[in-house]
Amino acid sequence: MSYDRVAFIGLGLIASSMFWAMRRAGMGAHVTGYARSEQTRATAREIGLCDMVCDDLASAVREADLVVLCLPVGAMGTVMAEAAPYIKPGATITDVGSVKCAVVEAVTPHVPPGVHFVPGHPLAGTEHSGPRAGFAELFDNRWCLLTPDGADASAVAQLSRYWQALGAKVEEMDPDHHDLVLAVTSHAPHLIAYTMVGVADDLHRVTNSEVINFSATGFRDFTRIAASDPTMWRDVFLTNKDATLEILGRFTEELFALQRAIRTGDGEMLHDYFTRTRAIRRGIIDAGQDTDAPDFGRQKS
Ligand code: NAP
Repeated sequence: MSYDRVAFIGLGLIASSMFWAMRRAGMGAHVTGYARSEQTRATAREIGLCDMVCDDLASAVREADLVVLCLPVGAMGTVMAEAAPYIKPGATITDVGSVKCAVVEAVTPHVPPGVHFVPGHPLAGTEHSGPRAGFAELFDNRWCLLTPDGADASAVAQLSRYWQALGAKVEEMDPDHHDLVLAVTSHAPHLIAYTMVGVADDLHRVTNSEVINFSATGFRDFTRIAASDPTMWRDVFLTNKDATLEILGRFTEELFALQRAIRTGDGEMLHDYFTRTRAIRRGIIDAGQDTDAPDFGRQKS
């Protein structure tokens, strides 16, 4: 059975993509939306995002069978505390936050009796944000990880079917394990991209515009990642601190090993290393999680 009424709290990239994917799937659910700023609510109304955009949280969630928290991780607990008294028994609450342990810790104490909480994280996004950034295809063939941690099995199954209807593949995971995996595949790489672009920015002051004008593919890929939303990423690092620091520690050790190989002229070590990493790229393409196009699909986006 699909949900009759869905409420999106926060109307940015992820909520708007979910809404358009629901419409593409022909889901008949009535959708309400709430965003904290008048400007975002006005934009949502202008572009037809949601059947009804509400000026207050209570009106948005009151009738909902599914409440989806589409907010920065650091805001979830406070917003949930405010919404909790208005959520009806039997409803399911989920979220789309990039970190799971911190969300579970912040949200669970506010979940009313008789309401199911099934945390989630779609592994799909772009560097754009806001209500205009969404598109229906965002979740196609991407993973959505659910971390139910003992939640009601039928509520989990219903949410899983919902994500599949939006185009995603669903897997369940333990919240701790989720945070470690994402530290490797997403959080640490973002921090490295932010750092590399910061280094280039410092250099830019020395070389005038050469860093911009002659930027090569590798650097341009870093700048795309480093253009991601500052609030979202600040919250990711502050709430997935331990796993990110663990991975950055390992990263630093590997970097020193490569630095040493360059200094000592150990070409064999460098060649073996790059052969291993090239195979990982091949595996991602074979799994359908990226394109083999030489421009990394940039021209299509
Ligand atoms: P977004 O486009 O920046 O939208 C965020 C929404 O949250 C906006 O409607 C904003 O309201 C609202 N908001 C921000 N701070 C708030 C606060 N303190 N209190 C109440 N509302 C607040 O963000 P997004 O990319 O959709 O990300 C939403 C969640 O999805 C985040 O937890 C992120 O970790 C996760 N996620 C993101 C991606 C990605 O690539 N972007 C991928 C997977 C998961 P106003 O517009 O009114 O300010």
